[in-house]
Amino acid sequence: GTPTALMVGSGMGAERGILIRNGEAIQTLKDVNAIAFDKTGTITKGKPEVTDVIPLNGANEKDVFYYAATIENASEHPLAHAILEKANDEKINLGEVSGFNAIVGMGVEGYTDGERVLVGNRKLMRENKISYEHHEKELIKLEEEAKTAMLISKGDKLIGIIAVADPVKEDAKKAIEELERMGIKTAMITGDNKRTADAIGKKVGISHVISEVLPDGKVEEIKNLQREYDVVAMVGDGINDAPALKQSNVGIAIGTGTDIAIEAADITLVRGDLGDVISSIKLSKATFRKIK
Ligand code: ADP
Ligand code: MG
Repeated sequence: GTPTALMVGSGMGAERGILIRNGEAIQTLKDVNAIAFDKTGTITKGKPEVTDVIPLNGANEKDVFYYAATIENASEHPLAHAILEKANDEKINLGEVSGFNAIVGMGVEGYTDGERVLVGNRKLMRENKISYEHHEKELIKLEEEAKTAMLISKGDKLIGIIAVADPVKEDAKKAIEELERMGIKTAMITGDNKRTADAIGKKVGISHVISEVLPDGKVEEIKNLQREYDVVAMVGDGINDAPALKQSNVGIAIGTGTDIAIEAADITLVRGDLGDVISSIKLSKATFRKIK
């Protein structure tokens, strides 16, 4: 009967680090038509590193890292970690920050040395009437290299651009190719900008890239996919992936991610390898074939 089969399935999965907390979900997985992946920490390693700095308007590299890191010191975002690590490597002493504020989908703001400092994307600069348009060429070049470019302003002037790269996981491309071969549609959902997201999508062979999605928007995107593909799985690791993991027919958490994502998911891939998404589907097919 079903309970025995489920136990067998769970046991087989556990050896591979596939933890199943919801038996119904593993049964559903054999019928999955589309899988949506989060970008940062799911498709990519989730450890962005600074690759480029472009000082502007009379600032030097050290100034750019000093102001950016002083404000980002109050942020938990992976982009903030990348900037802080670089400032630490450069032995830059950070300043005091007040009035810190994280602006969802845009970046951060704060005050230091009596100056207002912003670190974030174009949207953040546009909202604050900081002109960046003369630097579109540099921004586009970085984004086409699959990097995330951040703009840094002090007062009413841009002082620089910092770019980070977050390499894709070694097995991501192979896993996506195999899913597509199995007839499963793959998609990526991210808050990052379109050009960077498309470049990463291209690297791993995901054709359907949904970018510039605010954290609340991930659930809507899953609902859209469910209207088109019926049975949809979601793979993610972040706090902001939790509602989408719940909305999907099968929520799959990356074990190296946040506890909140793991609690929201039906299945956890302990090792975080994307190849284990395929193992999970095969496990589902094998287990539920035996019952009949
Ligand atoms: P994701 O998790 O996909 O990066 P977010 O919604 O967290 O999506 O962020 C969307 C975008 O907002 C980022 O790509 C970046 O441009 C900007 N952003 C968010 N947080 C920060 C931050 N702490 N520092 C700089 N930029 C940020
Ligand atoms: Mg993530």
